[in-house]
Amino acid sequence: MKIGCPTEIKPQEFRVGMTPDAAREAVNHGHSVLIQKGAGMGAGFTDEDYVAAGAAIIDTAEEIFATADMIVKVKEPQAVERKMLREGQLLFTYLHLAPDPEQTHDLLESGCTAIAYETVTDDRGGLPLLAPMSEVAGRLAPQVGAYTLQKANGGRGVLMGGVPGVSPAKVVVIGGGVVGTHAAKIAAGMGADVTILDRSLPRLKYLDDVFGREFKNQYSTAGATADLVREADMVIGAVLIPGAAAPKLVSRAQLSEMKPGAVLVDVAIDQGGCFETSRATTHADPIYDVDGIMHYCVANMPGAVARTSTQALGNATLPFMLALADKGWKQACADDPHLLNGLNVHAGKLTYFAVGKALGLDV
Ligand code: NAD
Repeated sequence: MKIGCPTEIKPQEFRVGMTPDAAREAVNHGHSVLIQKGAGMGAGFTDEDYVAAGAAIIDTAEEIFATADMIVKVKEPQAVERKMLREGQLLFTYLHLAPDPEQTHDLLESGCTAIAYETVTDDRGGLPLLAPMSEVAGRLAPQVGAYTLQKANGGRGVLMGGVPGVSPAKVVVIGGGVVGTHAAKIAAGMGADVTILDRSLPRLKYLDDVFGREFKNQYSTAGATADLVREADMVIGAVLIPGAAAPKLVSRAQLSEMKPGAVLVDVAIDQGGCFETSRATTHADPIYDVDGIMHYCVANMPGAVARTSTQALGNATLPFMLALADKGWKQACADDPHLLNGLNVHAGKLTYFAVGKALGLDV
């Protein structure tokens, strides 16, 4: 199979769909890999790295879309890319179609077969191609929060780990799923005093079993959240209610009870945010102040560490990409119901129920 990987063109996107390691694996499986010139540069991979892996470097996206049997990307295809998709061509990337009728329309019209990273599942009911980005965002949250806590950035001027004789920062993580667990782990590793809140008792039991006294955990009620937030130097929002907007768990009124210069990092901002005062920001201008409380609400946090994110995503997508290339999408999906769950569009038809429901289209 000819596998094509164009340069990402969405603004501020520095990741790339295939690492040189992934390209080498595909070549070793007997496939040809076409990488657009400079596609890996944002993630620190040179054209020479891809050539050494056995891939061919192609000048333009047009040539890649015209010749590849499968397109492997990171972000949903942009309008100009959607025009280049062909009938029978396989597209493997993040799509997030439910809030995007225009993209859905164009994909249907193209006649392509589109498998969305975000709806591929695993045996434990998880989303294995979303999890790596949650891991990255979770681990990044205390890092950006610690920077924001510094005085020059508007923060309280508190050091995460304190020093001998001075208490560490108090960090509260709301939501103990993938993002929250990784955030708590890193914040605790920096020496902070960390408490995680979740509404799932099984999850709290798991956190207690696995992490013991590394960080505390508490059942998430409005009262417990308010008490902890009042005392916190940093609050990390990491909740998710699947298929719904994030619940607002800290109100504007509560900000006035917090310590001046405390920091809110709202990782759940891509679902609308879990603090009333959150609004999405960008890497170019990530932090703002509401009532003396500093907010960091970047919707695509993994983009800040494009190299790590590309490698993490590449590790997760590789087995699926190889199965699709080796067997063709039909056989690969017949053999793996989890990959089949990724199928969103085929030959002009929507094939994913939740997307159809959200957009009022037949499935
Ligand atoms: P997850 O499903 O693994 O975890 C969510 C957790 O929130 C669950 O454990 C759930 O029990 C808990 N929860 C739900 N309601 C709660 C409440 N009221 N109080 C406390 N806990 C509650 O999800 P995840 O992968 O950790 O993702 C968390 C959020 O981060 C999602 O909105 C996701 O889209 C977002 N995210 C953002 C970025 C970014 O760049 N900003 C990157 C990755 C993920």
